[in-house]
Amino acid sequence: MDLYNIGLGNNDLKTRAAASQDHIKFWESQAESLYWSERWHTALEWNPPFARWFVGGKTNASYNALDRIVQKNPNKKAIFWEGEDGATRVLTYKDLLVEVSKLANALKTLGVKKGDRITVYLPMVPELIISLLACARIGAIHTVIFSGFSAKSIRDRVDDSKSKIIITADGGRRRGTLVKLKDVVDEAIQGLDFVENVIVLEHTHNPISFTARDKKWNELVSSMEPFCDAEMLDSTHPLYILYTSGTTGKPKGVLHGTGGYLTHVFSTFQWIFDIKDSDVYFCTADIGWVTGHSYVVYGPLMHGATQVMYEGALDYSTPARIWEIISRYGVTILYTTPTALRMFMKYGDDLPNSSDLSSLRLLGTVGEPINPRVWKWYFTTIGKERCPIIDTWWQTETGGAMISPLPGLETIHLKPGSASRPIPGVCLSIVDENGKAIPDDSKGYLVIENPWPGMLLTLWGDDEKYKTVYWSKYKNMYYAGDYAIRDKDGYIWMLGRADDVLKVAGHRLGTAELESGFVSHKAVAEAAVCGIPHDVKGEAIIAFLVLKDGYTQSEQLKKDLVQHIRTTIGPIASPDQLYFVTKLPKTRSGKIMRRLLKALAQDEKTGDISTLEDEASVDEIKAAFAELKQTLAKS
Ligand code: ATP
Ligand code: MG
Repeated sequence: MDLYNIGLGNNDLKTRAAASQDHIKFWESQAESLYWSERWHTALEWNPPFARWFVGGKTNASYNALDRIVQKNPNKKAIFWEGEDGATRVLTYKDLLVEVSKLANALKTLGVKKGDRITVYLPMVPELIISLLACARIGAIHTVIFSGFSAKSIRDRVDDSKSKIIITADGGRRRGTLVKLKDVVDEAIQGLDFVENVIVLEHTHNPISFTARDKKWNELVSSMEPFCDAEMLDSTHPLYILYTSGTTGKPKGVLHGTGGYLTHVFSTFQWIFDIKDSDVYFCTADIGWVTGHSYVVYGPLMHGATQVMYEGALDYSTPARIWEIISRYGVTILYTTPTALRMFMKYGDDLPNSSDLSSLRLLGTVGEPINPRVWKWYFTTIGKERCPIIDTWWQTETGGAMISPLPGLETIHLKPGSASRPIPGVCLSIVDENGKAIPDDSKGYLVIENPWPGMLLTLWGDDEKYKTVYWSKYKNMYYAGDYAIRDKDGYIWMLGRADDVLKVAGHRLGTAELESGFVSHKAVAEAAVCGIPHDVKGEAIIAFLVLKDGYTQSEQLKKDLVQHIRTTIGPIASPDQLYFVTKLPKTRSGKIMRRLLKALAQDEKTGDISTLEDEASVDEIKAAFAELKQTLAKS
């Protein structure tokens, strides 16, 4: 296996040593980096499976993200914002504090109290960050809904959280079209009488209808005082509810607390990105996902970082848009997803090669296993072999990164396709069906053995489901639902979702192993596999492939691909059926929804597909299966 010793990273040997001696004391020492108006009396209250961190301590997320930076450096640039249509804005930390304070005061005049829920349904504009911090400032619980979701999904979520206020905009821009957000909200909340007000940001200035319940953002905040004291809240006070991506089933409403969560995010942001005052950071995730919460909002702001925020598609209005943004703002740290990287790769190397990417020094990835071939492309074509690839494994539920190379802490050695080792203070294991730790280099289920500070408090309003989903498979170990291997160097390799593991002729295969095998072929841009029952083998492998630009499907290519997978992985990995499609079914956060493939292949109900990005991908797959049935019927 390739090992990349790029010799980058700090050389702090004490941190890991301290964490392995006493992980609770270690996290206490990390929590010292935050502002606390009162210190905690108990570092961790652990009533399995409920963890409460820094009990008795009082702090405020908005104060840590803004006031502490403004006290030192009010004019530090917080956000370079760019809209898809080319509009730009620049906001300093002082600007943010003023806007957050005004909105927080406005929320108070609307009767918002500590613990009330507020739904935020906004495009990627600075007011999205401002809304979150205004909620946090007064102890309201924010619940962000990605601005691509439909009225039905919004209704379910607003109803689940019983939000009193919804913050939205007249519209948002994506791929050159106007998304009429306010109209969607109007449809979503019909008859939901507990919604008292809708605050509407005028962003795109398209005509919209207003009722007495609606308040225009500008009119509402214009008369407000530009300062609002941050309310010091219990460390365990809920900061937000956020729904998971819905890749493996119905999205789960994850509830996060304050002090523990902030500690986890503060420390990991420093360790992962080795953030410096001079950096220009760019995370391409939407704030509608946890990556945006932790590593667009709270992490960067608590460190006083300068970041680029972009509203729109990364390949619009030209496929080189992302590279243009990087050179325009001199981005030094890029954090994106394997799915976005595969799309950029599909466009070919000319675009990045003809852009000035010399400012980059660090490249991150999150969301799915990164195929080694994609890793190497990111490293070579984008990072010019200078920038380490920081592959971060984590979940909405974990609050922050759990497995990652940490250049901000230690010298890193990278293996393409592995997220490296667990962060200090987190104890992971790979176990078998019975929860028994298994030897290195064997496949098993990833579990987390001790509570960690970013750990979810529970699932919103459903402690029972929380216990069942994460704590019922194994006793006192958190079940992550991912299939993995730890190698002899202690590096973790994610093999895909535990639900999707294939059992072929007595062997267990993770989807990531097979998909990376296909993606290692020069013609393949993306791959998704699933298994369906097979009388002899146990399970048969079905593969869906998207080809790179410049390649066309043919029977010969199919044969080549089967041969390729046989030689790279082994004859056991030969697909029984292989289809070429133009797009894969993905969640709106860009993850492949394999459960949908499986359901369609077996003519079963598709389950909750509210987070599916594009219905057209399903039609294509249905057509492929229909064709197969016809062929079988004829033969
Ligand atoms: P749901 O829980 O609703 O099915 P989801 O698991 O996709 O959705 P998220 O919390 O957004 O929701 O994603 C977490 C999952 O993403 C992890 O469990 C893992 O499967 C995958 N993941 C995230 N980062 C990585 C990574 N660096 N390498 C491999 N897999 C990753
Ligand atoms: Mg999940």
